[in-house]
Amino acid sequence: MGRSSKDKRDIYYRLAKEEGWRARSAFKLLQLDEEFNLFKGVSRAVDLCAAPGSWSQVLSRKLRLVKYKSEEVKIVAVDLQAMAPLPGVTQIQGDITKISTAQEIIRHFEGQSADLVVCDGAPDVTGLHDVDEYIQAQLLLAALNITTHVLKPGGNFVAKIFRGKDVTLLYSQLKIFFSSVTCAKPRSSRNSSIEAFVVCQNYSPPEGYVPNMSNPLLDHSYDVDFNQLEGPNRIIVPFLACGDLSAFDSDRTYPLQLDSSKEYQYLPPTQPPIRPPYQQACQLRKNNLLAKEDSPSGALDDSLSALDL
Ligand code: SAM
Repeated sequence: MGRSSKDKRDIYYRLAKEEGWRARSAFKLLQLDEEFNLFKGVSRAVDLCAAPGSWSQVLSRKLRLVKYKSEEVKIVAVDLQAMAPLPGVTQIQGDITKISTAQEIIRHFEGQSADLVVCDGAPDVTGLHDVDEYIQAQLLLAALNITTHVLKPGGNFVAKIFRGKDVTLLYSQLKIFFSSVTCAKPRSSRNSSIEAFVVCQNYSPPEGYVPNMSNPLLDHSYDVDFNQLEGPNRIIVPFLACGDLSAFDSDRTYPLQLDSSKEYQYLPPTQPPIRPPYQQACQLRKNNLLAKEDSPSGALDDSLSALDL
């Protein structure tokens, strides 16, 4: 996509150029860290939807150069697109909605868990807001699914979110897994943009929860039999049968005279059926009176008067 002159004037765009960040988005993660102290105690991190890599740069600089010895730090960056290498960052080129990508990330951690997962994922925006919001929400859920496989209890998850009309549904899904969920808008995120970031702290899945990639929206292999899920993995929605047992059974046929003590009295519907404009034409056709192409003009009028319409 071409860069507009507005982008060039943007202070964060200029600062990114001056400080050597690959994208102005770097400042979003830096400002989120200033507010939430995200990098405290973090030596293993996953950057989902990482290209061109400014968030991975932030992680690499902050964790490897500032906090830990570089060999203690593990950063895994994933994106559909390839990106130029970064010191200490392992790259995976893949789709985060695919089980195979999740498995590859897990393999890189060799049985250890990550302290932090970040996701700045965004689809190619179509301009159709409902579609864009839906796809973004699916990316977020894919990132959450991967997070449940790799994040340590107590760890944090940060993800881009579009504050559309269904955002509260996403918040409640995130709240199942994190004790604190905050929606944050860093100064470097344009006011005109619908984007914000959910900062989900203290990963604490429901007791007994076993991570799975069973969301059928995320991958087309339905490899989980939903009826086999147990414990907190199986969401039971209460089933409530409403209505008194003496109420009418909708599968039975009843005589018109329901009350044997009273004679049946016909009551017309309170609102009679409408008379649609095509009703005349239907009736004419039924009676084979609809004017044919070669009928002389006035045939329709004759037909109507024949029907007394
Ligand atoms: N955080 C990045 C940075 O600071 O450089 C910028 C990320 S950019 C806004 C969004 C990225 O999401 C794009 O690089 C795109 O390729 C990636 N993306 C979108 N859908 C994806 C998917 N299904 N799997 C992996 N990456 C995806």
